[in-house]
Amino acid sequence: MLPCPMMTLRRFLRLTPSLLAVVLAAPSLRAADDLSNQYREPANRLIDAALADTAGYARLAYLCDRIGNRLSGSPSLLKAIAWSADEMKGAGLENVLTPPVKVPHWVRGQESAALLSPVERKLHMLGLGLSVGTPPGGITADAVVVPNFDALAKLGKSVAGKIVVYNAPYVNYGQTVAYRSAGASRAADLGAVAVLVRSITPLAMQIPHTGALQYAASSPKIPAAAITIEDATMLDRMQQRGESVRIHLEMQAHMEPDADAANVMGEIPGSEKPEEVVVIGGHVDSWDVGQGAQDDGSGIMAALEAVALIKKLGLHPRRTIRVVFWVNEENGGRGGEAYRAQIGGEVANHVAAIEMDGGAEKPTGFGYGPFRRMRPRPGEPTPQSPQLNASEQESYAICQQIAKLLERIDAGKAEMGGGGSDIGPLVRDGVPGLSPSNVGLHYFDWHHTEADTVDKVDPEDFRRNIAVLAVLSYVLADMPGRLAGHKSAAAE
Ligand SMILES: [Zn+2]
Repeated sequence: MLPCPMMTLRRFLRLTPSLLAVVLAAPSLRAADDLSNQYREPANRLIDAALADTAGYARLAYLCDRIGNRLSGSPSLLKAIAWSADEMKGAGLENVLTPPVKVPHWVRGQESAALLSPVERKLHMLGLGLSVGTPPGGITADAVVVPNFDALAKLGKSVAGKIVVYNAPYVNYGQTVAYRSAGASRAADLGAVAVLVRSITPLAMQIPHTGALQYAASSPKIPAAAITIEDATMLDRMQQRGESVRIHLEMQAHMEPDADAANVMGEIPGSEKPEEVVVIGGHVDSWDVGQGAQDDGSGIMAALEAVALIKKLGLHPRRTIRVVFWVNEENGGRGGEAYRAQIGGEVANHVAAIEMDGGAEKPTGFGYGPFRRMRPRPGEPTPQSPQLNASEQESYAICQQIAKLLERIDAGKAEMGGGGSDIGPLVRDGVPGLSPSNVGLHYFDWHHTEADTVDKVDPEDFRRNIAVLAVLSYVLADMPGRLAGHKSAAAE
C-alpha cells in the first residue's frame, strides 16, 4: 500500500485517479522525439546479438534437464535458486542477491483414480495444487458429470456424497480456469465429497494438467484432481447412456510447514540515474511435473540473457535494469509480495516492470498497462478496452515507437494490457507493467503438464523473445521520460 500522503494529495488537489496519473507521469514525454529513430542503432545491435545467441537456450536446457521441475518447498527449487544466482554473476550482473522468502509447501504424495463402474479402468489424473488429500484408503463414490456451474446449481443437494466431475469445454484459459480454481468449493457447498476437473486445455492428448485451486474460506475442503479431456468426455458419455458411474480416488496430498526459498536478483546499475529501476523477470518455481520449460523457465532465462546481452554489448542505460526471478508464483505469489515489501518506498522509482510468463512462442510484440488484465479473474468476462487519459495515450504512443524497433523480427505490435502476477503488487502501486506477447498457439497444450519440457521451446522463437526483452528493457531504462502508471482501485 502506498502511504496516506498520496491520498491526501489527491483529495487536496481534488484529482480523479486518472488525473492523478497525469500528475505522476513526470517528467513528461515529448512525443516529437520518436524513440524509434533515437534507438534504432542500439536496438539493431541487440536484435542481432539475440538472434545469434546460444548461451540463453543452453542455460534453459541445463535448468530443465539437470535441475528439472521446481515446486515451492522442493530441493530442486533451492538448487535452481543457487544456480540462478551463479549464472547471474557469470553473466556480469552486479549486486546479485537471494533475499529469503518463506513459501507454502504443498506435497502431492501418491495419487490415483480409477473407474469402478460401468467398467473397471484407470483414470489419467493429476491432483490440483493445494488440494487436500483423501482419507487413507481413498474415497469411493458415485460420480455426477456436469458441463458447467449452472448445471451443478440445478442439481443442488442431490450431489451430496458424490464425486462431481466438471466436463467444461475449453473456451479460453481465463474463463475455463474457474472450474479448476473454484470448482472444489462450489461442489463442497452442496455436499460433494471430491471433484474431478477436465483439464484446462484445448488439446486432448490423454495428459492431465495441474494448477492451483482456491478453497473458499467458508466451504469444506474436499480433494480435487484434474483428469484428461478423453476421460472426462468418456465419463460424460457413460452418464448420458444412463450408466451409473462409480469412481475410486486416492490422494496423499497435504501441506507441510512453510519452507525456505528466495527470490533471485541481479542488475546493471544505471549510468545516470541508478536509483531509477526497470525490473524484468519471471518466476523461478514451477509445478512438480515436466520441466517447467515454457512455464516459466523460458521467461527467466530470456530475461537474464536479454540483460546479459545489454551488458556484453557495452550499452550503459541511464537507469538500472534489475533482473528478478520471483519465487512461488504457481501456488502462493509470495515472491512477488516479498519483492514489493523489500523495495518499500522505492516503488516510486520503479519506472517499469516487465514480466515474461506466457511462454516463449513466436513473439508478436508486447503489452503495456493494466488497462486490460491479461487473464480476467475466474468467472469474469474479458474487460473492454478502456478510455485512456492523456498521459496514458502519450505513453501508449511511446510504446508504439519502441515496438517499431521490433518490426524487423515481426514483433512490432504494442497492445493495451500487459503484466503478470509476479509484478501485480508493483502494478497495483502505480508501476507501469509490461509483458511480451506471442502467437499463443500451443502454450495451453503443455501448460502445467509432464509435457512442459525444453523440446517445446523453439530456439528461434526463444531468441526472438530475448530480442524483445532486450530492446524493451534497454529503451525503457534509457529514454528521457517514463511511462505513466495507474494505481489500481485495490491500492486506493
Ligand atoms: Zn507461469
